[in-house]
Amino acid sequence: MPHRFRTLFQHTGDAVCLADAEGVIVEANPAATTRFGLAADARGHLRDLFADPTDWAGVARRLERGEDVHMPVRLRAPSGAPVVESITCVQMRDGPGAQIQAIVHAVHNPYGGDLHELYDGHTGLPNRAAFVTQLTRTLQSPAHRGSPLAVMHVDLNRFHRINESLGHETGTTVLSMTAQRLDACLRPGDVVARGSGDDFLVLLKDFVGEAEVVRVAERIARMLTGGYAVGEHEVFCGSDVGVALGEGGAADADTLLRAAETAMSSARRTGRVQVFRPEMRTDAVQAMRMDTDLRHALERGELRVFYQPVVGLRDGRVHGFEALVRWEHPVRGLVSPADFIPVAEDTDLIIPIGEWVLREAALQLRDWQGRYPEHPLGMGVNLSVRQFRPALVQQVRTVLEHSGVDPAGLKLEVTESVVMADADDAIAILHQLKELGIKLQVDDFGTGYSSLSYLHRLPVDILKIDRSLVVAMPQGTKHVSIVRAIIALANTLALETTAEGVEDAEQADNLREMGCTHAQGYLWSRPVPAAQAEPLITAPPLTR
Ligand code: C2E
Ligand code: CA
Ligand code: CA
Repeated sequence: MPHRFRTLFQHTGDAVCLADAEGVIVEANPAATTRFGLAADARGHLRDLFADPTDWAGVARRLERGEDVHMPVRLRAPSGAPVVESITCVQMRDGPGAQIQAIVHAVHNPYGGDLHELYDGHTGLPNRAAFVTQLTRTLQSPAHRGSPLAVMHVDLNRFHRINESLGHETGTTVLSMTAQRLDACLRPGDVVARGSGDDFLVLLKDFVGEAEVVRVAERIARMLTGGYAVGEHEVFCGSDVGVALGEGGAADADTLLRAAETAMSSARRTGRVQVFRPEMRTDAVQAMRMDTDLRHALERGELRVFYQPVVGLRDGRVHGFEALVRWEHPVRGLVSPADFIPVAEDTDLIIPIGEWVLREAALQLRDWQGRYPEHPLGMGVNLSVRQFRPALVQQVRTVLEHSGVDPAGLKLEVTESVVMADADDAIAILHQLKELGIKLQVDDFGTGYSSLSYLHRLPVDILKIDRSLVVAMPQGTKHVSIVRAIIALANTLALETTAEGVEDAEQADNLREMGCTHAQGYLWSRPVPAAQAEPLITAPPLTR
């Protein structure tokens, strides 16, 4: 060490240690000797400076990744008591054959002696408080002035279910596996922290443009979607990722964190990674108000069920209906389910709402089955992912008993994602539902995973071909081929097909010619209240 640096080393008030590649301390300055109570000759190991082994594990892992670490940790005072100090650990290459690998530089406790927990014990990651400190420091650092930064809010969306059904130990394992996967998606210099509960925070530096950040965010979302093998369980848990972009010197930590969280809510609603835009804030405020209003909607009787006829393409007659919920909001008027179902899903209000729709639709079907015995009718009822839990089976059984409906007429609609996300559990529930004698349909087929290979594993009866494919048919021969292939496949598996969103006669003709059995759409009728739907049951064939 050149003389002038040695002088600095000896006299600075900050504690500085040099350690070798194994973490064994080879030099410590007097400030360090006093602060950590190190013996003059036997220096010990860096690990021993830490009051909590998980703190050290976190630092060591990041050093291994080639990352420089700046963060508050709990160090051990000579008395043995933990003291929160801000440390810097950097790797040094001291020429070829370098011995010295790490340097700990502890600035005396800038946190006012408060013993905050700065690490998350489960994952070894810094916690939210530590992340905020780090983010603030980065934003204020001259080195990052004017350069782009991104904060990501990563939310595990099925985590509470894992905790509930498989226990906290499994939950904790999933969290630490998530931490490792996040780590693997990031580069040295990026920061990842555990937020609160089931969310994680990421700080990205040194990237070029929004597209690169979105790519990283999408990679994260993909990595977290894959199954987690925990003991004998295969757990699936998916994530929603929101991104906020900022610039060193021009943003503050709090604003960025809130923006990232808002973007995450939008990601949850849309099902894809979202970068924050100011208008999302109004969306979020509206969603919040909607959430309080929606709580009362059920008890105040503001929900309605509308019915859209499902038409047999061969005979042009109404073979049944799809029940579609509506909200008659006292101020906003009729609110679309596309707007409030996602809110209901976020708040778990979907459970009572879904149950109410199911009951209403079953009673309506029972009524029509009784009065029009010569017209066998079916009733499609949508099920949200959130309703898809073991309790659902009992719920459906109760509704069947109370309504006295013929079970074969009830056709529950589930999307592909429901089945794919949690395949084994979901398939078990589907089988139990089938045992009640009801029918199952795959909704929005052709939009999600569109994985045909899993279909034969599922006890389903009907495929509903998504409107986007039907709409696209006239333009693209490709879409015609896809629809044709879906129908052919369904026929091979002895499944019925219902095309959604048929708006003109040409589409209907094409579909009929391809062998599609049923369809619904504005061509025949929009979803309407029961009183308007009823005459359709006995109406003459609705085809031209
Ligand atoms: P979905 O299950 O795919 O329902 C079909 C949607 O397409 C309905 O929208 C229907 O009104 C609309 N539609 C039908 N024919 C046509 C057409 O010819 N052209 C066009 N452009 N649209 C057509 P709606 O009623 O707004 O419902 C939207 C979504 O909300 C539904 O999509 C479903 O995912 C969800 N939803 C509705 N009711 C419930 C419910 O009771 N429970 C749950 N979990 N979700 C529901
Ligand atoms: Ca549907
Ligand atoms: Ca659909």
